[in-house]
Amino acid sequence: MSQLPFLPFSKPVIDEATIAAVGEVLRSGWITSGPKVQAFEAQLSAYFGGRPVRTFNSGTCTMEIALRIAGIGPGDEVITTPISWVATANVILEVGATPVFADIDPLTRNIDLERLEAAITPRTRAVIPVYLAGLPVDMDRLYAIARRHNLRIIEDAAQALGSSWNGQRIGAGGDFVSFSFQANKNVTCSEGGCLVLNTAEEVRLAEKYRLQGVTRSGFDGLDVDVLGGKFNMTDVAAAIGLGQFAHIEALTAHRRELARHYFKCFGDDFEATYGAQLPPADFSSSNWHLFQLVLPERADGLPARATFMEQMQARGIGIGYHYPPIHLLSLYRARGWQEGMLPVAERVGRLIVSLPMFTSMTKDDVERAVAAVKAVLRDA
Ligand SMILES: *Cc1c(COP(=O)(O)O)cnc(C)c1O
Repeated sequence: MSQLPFLPFSKPVIDEATIAAVGEVLRSGWITSGPKVQAFEAQLSAYFGGRPVRTFNSGTCTMEIALRIAGIGPGDEVITTPISWVATANVILEVGATPVFADIDPLTRNIDLERLEAAITPRTRAVIPVYLAGLPVDMDRLYAIARRHNLRIIEDAAQALGSSWNGQRIGAGGDFVSFSFQANKNVTCSEGGCLVLNTAEEVRLAEKYRLQGVTRSGFDGLDVDVLGGKFNMTDVAAAIGLGQFAHIEALTAHRRELARHYFKCFGDDFEATYGAQLPPADFSSSNWHLFQLVLPERADGLPARATFMEQMQARGIGIGYHYPPIHLLSLYRARGWQEGMLPVAERVGRLIVSLPMFTSMTKDDVERAVAAVKAVLRDA
């Protein structure tokens, strides 16, 4: 239908300097964790106001390790949102604790803090909030709840590098803060993650959990006193991360520009005319990792999202969906979760779509995507 090249919903952009830096690592004779990892950790730490930061090979193990450092395990409950990548809940199971889902706010699509507080029991030890699409929750309220109930917070900021709250960068404050550098994230290493920590003792534990529980001393001293895994980042990945991270300010500014243009193109009457819901128009906190619409149900009974995705694809536009509600996946149903328990998440999870949003996108691309959305919804 379209003469223009296919517009994907996400695409990594790696510049030539970064590709050259990766080549240098490969030629250097040291390709696993080494000087590039150290340099990346130092840059991240400076970016987060001097807080200690350690890198890992995913944004999943970062959260698992934070839970282990906090001493969370069997018998403990951890509250999180049902609208996230399944990793957020899987890590809770991985450490032997019990995930408890609290429903989301229909406007922000993040965990509803009132429902979060209502879900707290004497067994609750921690909360994993997710900043979906890069939009933070109300951090003042979140940390007030944590203080009142003596809870650890592991912020799943996988999508929120470059986001801020009241002028402070996400990661520069708070408790544990976890980021992902997976291929679709605003800054990528191909795969990777980092965890912002609080104390030297937490750093020591993070380093042990990252590599088989090993502590080294002297020339040949080696001991293992906790069970760790194999979660270290390589210098190859860190070289990509350093090259990407150098552009963080420009790429965040560009994403905000694209988001502004989306709003302008959709226009003030879009929601009333088409019955779809735009994201909150936030241009100070969010890094606009995603631009997500919640679709209206279809009058003809066809599945609204699958039909929309298919028709957008036919118009040359890629559409993502983030995410199906975690509590309705078989692994979680088997633990007693079912339809009707989290009605807002169930509706949003069924109807939410992610429009194209990536660093090398142009305003023309936004205009193309919006024209296609309107055409598809008009025919629905
Ligand atoms: C990407 C992502 C993760 C997992 O990160 P990986 O690096 O893929 O392990 C977790 N939570 C959210 C919200 C994410 O977007």
